[in-house]
Amino acid sequence: MHEATQQILDHVVQVDPNQPEFIQAVTSFMASIDHLVDDLPQIVYHKVLDRMVEPERVIMFRVPWIDDDGQLQINRAFRVQMNSAIGPYKGGLRFHPSVNLSILKFLAFEQTFKNSLTGLAMGGGKGGSDFNPKGKSDNEVMRFCQSMMTELSRHIGEDTDIPAGDIGVGSREIGYLYGQYRRMKNRSVGILTGKGPSYGGSFIRPEATGYGLVYLSAAILEAKGKSLQGKTCLVSGSGNVAQYTAEKLLHMGATPISFSDSSGILIDPSGIDEKKLAFVKTLKNVRRGRISEYAQQFKEATYIPHNDSEDANPLWDVKADYAFPCATQNEINANDAKNLVANGISLVGEGANMPTTLEADAIFKEAGVLHAPGKAANAGGVAVSGLEMAQNSQKLQWTAEQVDTQLQQIMRNIYTSISQAAEKYSTKDNFVDGANIAGFLKVSDAMIAQGY
Ligand code: GLU
Repeated sequence: MHEATQQILDHVVQVDPNQPEFIQAVTSFMASIDHLVDDLPQIVYHKVLDRMVEPERVIMFRVPWIDDDGQLQINRAFRVQMNSAIGPYKGGLRFHPSVNLSILKFLAFEQTFKNSLTGLAMGGGKGGSDFNPKGKSDNEVMRFCQSMMTELSRHIGEDTDIPAGDIGVGSREIGYLYGQYRRMKNRSVGILTGKGPSYGGSFIRPEATGYGLVYLSAAILEAKGKSLQGKTCLVSGSGNVAQYTAEKLLHMGATPISFSDSSGILIDPSGIDEKKLAFVKTLKNVRRGRISEYAQQFKEATYIPHNDSEDANPLWDVKADYAFPCATQNEINANDAKNLVANGISLVGEGANMPTTLEADAIFKEAGVLHAPGKAANAGGVAVSGLEMAQNSQKLQWTAEQVDTQLQQIMRNIYTSISQAAEKYSTKDNFVDGANIAGFLKVSDAMIAQGY
């Protein structure tokens, strides 16, 4: 890394060393942007990057709520408003016990560049709470969401900041959050995306992240003369992203063979077909059950509970053609990456945000694995959020076909911009560099044009 880049990175670490996920995301980004050090005047390079690693605003607040036993509970919540140079802050809300400022800053940072790659006018933000929806009743989740929105409503707006879902925040939570905003403000406007289709949501939004991931992966493979047809695929996670990744893989003639959740992993060597996928959707989305139930229902599958003392996840040690991590950050470490490479994996498409550690990234690069990073590969979700915002401001609802056609076009455009940026500034097919550089160039251009 050049000295100018290293200085900025050192500064981020020095200001707050206790933010490992944010430092990881910035380190990976800086390694890519380092390729541009000779293309931009030093002063511009330095000052733009200095600003980019500092959120425009962070809001932190308490969320008091009453549980079903009548006890007062307190959670901590945040909204990180990272960068609004190209449009209003946009990004999901995560409800998970691990949520802290480091994780939300990394997600908001990634979101800024992801959103710019969609070609839509959306800045970057992220928020969430350490509230754990697992095991909570519907009423508890509702009371939590209402209390969260009571404060959040002061900071968001259809032209200011538009949250959506992420881990732990699906259509149920978005509905409760939106209802509270509408009651408080007496305004029915698009202040959240991922809404139900009956109250301003867009068709294809639930499917968009998974579908977009498969569209982008197909474009990468096509350029190499390969395809998804007849290929076996590892998918991790079992939420919205994983489910619709598996669904689109099936549409494209590939065979998904795995899922996972926070308790364990599920391998079905005979393939997860439409019928089994329908079982998973009801299990996870309606019954809110655990993926282990799949192995009780379909005996050909194997369930392995997570074992934290193991230094590799057995899911990534199953022979397959392509891997689609759709669970969470850092789910693939160096040992997992080595196992995947040893088993001949040739493409890793990231449905999750930053699912690979820096060491795993290096192993994939060394082995020549086609690696589509989250900020490009999972951008379909926020892209359709952008289309939902457009529909809301027009007071119109487009058909599922219209939305899907636009999603396909956006993912093709993302492929073109990241592959061109990779070839021009780094190495052909280095999509990690390509996505960082293409995202950076658009955001920095808007920042420089608007002064400081
Ligand atoms: N949470 C999703 C992401 O990581 C979607 C954000 C949105 O739709 O605003 O991109």
